[in-house]
Amino acid sequence: MHDAVEALLDEVGVETQPQPLFDSTRLRGQVALVTGGSSGIGRAVALELARCGVHIAFCFLDSGAQSRLDAQEVAQRLRAMEVRVFFRSCDVRDSREVRDFVREVQEELGGIQILVNNAGIGRDSALWRMEDHEWEGVVRTNLDGAFFFTRAVAPLMRAQEYGKIVNVTSVHGLRSEFGIANYSASKAGLIGLTRSAAVELGPRNVNVNAVAPGYIRTTRLTDGVPSEVLDRARERAVLGRLGDPQDVAGVVLFLCSEAARHITGVVIPVDGGYLL
Ligand code: NDP
Repeated sequence: MHDAVEALLDEVGVETQPQPLFDSTRLRGQVALVTGGSSGIGRAVALELARCGVHIAFCFLDSGAQSRLDAQEVAQRLRAMEVRVFFRSCDVRDSREVRDFVREVQEELGGIQILVNNAGIGRDSALWRMEDHEWEGVVRTNLDGAFFFTRAVAPLMRAQEYGKIVNVTSVHGLRSEFGIANYSASKAGLIGLTRSAAVELGPRNVNVNAVAPGYIRTTRLTDGVPSEVLDRARERAVLGRLGDPQDVAGVVLFLCSEAARHITGVVIPVDGGYLL
């Protein structure tokens, strides 16, 4: 009896020793696929993971010459960090393109351990004036795209009994504002997808989580949103600032690390207290 108690105490003692869980070197050599990795938050995520030695595959839409230049510049910066890089345009709205892209990433980089569903757009309008294409474009990019990629990597992650999926939703998936019915619905849907995928993939050791950024200073935001809206957002965030892409990337990195191994199906706001 005495021996059994001693053994139990020993075990508990070992279990409660602090473990170096947030050890970024443990990510070294893994492969991450980041959708929309050519700019803004996706670019920051790709660079942050690469800093930890993660090989990077990313896609972008190729919406013009600038978009191609952005993608090439990101690839150059990643290669300078001595990780392997695979990138090309792939429209997340097209399930066949997504399947092909995922297959090519596996062939080129040897596997996929991390998926970050980041590609996203907004097309704001009062809902009674919203055109079919504005609704469909946003929902297909922000929600269908994440579903297509999750479905495409699921068999691989299930088979290897390891995977981290992080979906980039938004505070507007949790709280809406005027003129963003399409965006809000797509981002709320993405939260539902996050929870469902966490339930279905958890038993095979795949963590699925979401980050919900507040207003983040990317060109999409600074070019596309009126300054009075940004001022209001800054005032509403209790930290009194807009976020930077890096603020989101740090949380994505955490969710991909072993420090977050017991976290799945959650949504972490990265919003400076905007939702409070
Ligand atoms: P950016 O516009 O800077 O970047 C969007 C990226 O997604 C680009 O690489 C773009 O490629 C790509 N993309 C767009 N449509 C598609 C498509 N159909 N197929 C493949 N790639 C596509 O956006 P942000 O960095 O600001 O936003 C990134 C994510 O974060 C989005 O999901 C957004 O909703 C979310 N978010 C952003 C916030 C912000 O304040 N910035 C706040 C909350 C959430 P290309 O350049 O070729 O078009």
